[in-house]
Amino acid sequence: MKFKTLSVHAGHRPQDHMGAVMPPIYQTSTFAFRGVNQPGPFDYSRSGNPTRKALEDCLAALEGGSAGFAFATGMAAEATVLMLFPAGSTVIVHNDLYGGTYRLFESVFSTKGIRARYVDLRDARCLEAALAEGAAAVWIETPTNPLMNLVDLRAVAEAARKHGALTICDNTFLSPYFQRPLEFGIDIVTHSTTKYINGHSDVVGGAAIVGDPALAERIGFLQNAMGTCAGPQDCFLVLRGIKTLALRMEEHHRNALALAQWLSRHPKIAQVLHPGLPSHPQHALAQSQMSGYGGTFSFRVHGGQDAVFRLLSAVRVFTLAESLGGVESLIEHPATMTHASVPADVRETMGITPDLIRVSTGLEDIEDLIADLDAALAAA
Ligand SMILES: *Cc1c(COP(=O)(O)O)cnc(C)c1O
Repeated sequence: MKFKTLSVHAGHRPQDHMGAVMPPIYQTSTFAFRGVNQPGPFDYSRSGNPTRKALEDCLAALEGGSAGFAFATGMAAEATVLMLFPAGSTVIVHNDLYGGTYRLFESVFSTKGIRARYVDLRDARCLEAALAEGAAAVWIETPTNPLMNLVDLRAVAEAARKHGALTICDNTFLSPYFQRPLEFGIDIVTHSTTKYINGHSDVVGGAAIVGDPALAERIGFLQNAMGTCAGPQDCFLVLRGIKTLALRMEEHHRNALALAQWLSRHPKIAQVLHPGLPSHPQHALAQSQMSGYGGTFSFRVHGGQDAVFRLLSAVRVFTLAESLGGVESLIEHPATMTHASVPADVRETMGITPDLIRVSTGLEDIEDLIADLDAALAAA
């Protein structure tokens, strides 16, 4: 079945739930045995819950995997996946990534003997050199946050496989509607379902999806052993969000591209970082591995941090907030907000400079979004 059909139906059969057309919220910690030594399909909600199962099966269908796992947050999904690797492992990590993932590697897993080695995954020779020295996995984000750089999924998956390293792709920015990393040979997809997948800024959640059943078994074991799973109420809300994922992503994509095109013609804008613009250095790769550009992108304003702060104070439709992927438009300053936990010198070499602004384009009317930024830029 096609994506839109799967997003409405995958994971739930009304006849299994008293005919309920929407998946019920099984708000229970434990399940009665059918008899002595006769457990039912579920026994305890950390190990499995029918509402969570509906979401997990739906996520697996949308990403084209054999199994999905729903977690309390995106970070819980990432932490659980990283527990696959024994102490002493090296993980090659794209050198431009979500601030929370950087913090997880540097402040948590480094103390447990798992080392992150930062490499620009756009450069095949750097990746090859790092793989040659031995690595358990390669951690990819594409497009990256907030610089909108892309990683060639097929090329990295092939190189890693030759060296026996797993590949993990954080697919939060595009959702499976616009990019399905497993189809390019990636082993594990992770998500912060907090963002586009839920899409309504009312849940924090995470996910991991895999193709290989042996890998699925190991992640399922860790999810249960570590207790990082999502609760049934949150799973229900994420499932409800997924039913409109395709429609929302189309509109996020349209609004963001129109806004990026408008900004790129504005005299106060120094640069627009959006993979759908021909000026993006990886525009061709974007067209070959993504079927749309999503709703989040960044731009640089002339006049440095002072101008940025005046602009951020002047917006009325955009809300000054971290996060992305909801129906409402958000605007933020990576250097002092989402990426404040990355040391200043590292930020600077990455290109997260004080003149950089990131927007998550919501589903409002594009004319209102343009008018809002036009007025804010006049104040900047
Ligand atoms: C938000 C985010 C995460 C972390 O997810 P939480 O749900 O906030 O824990 C990870 N990766 C990316 C790209 C994100 O945007």
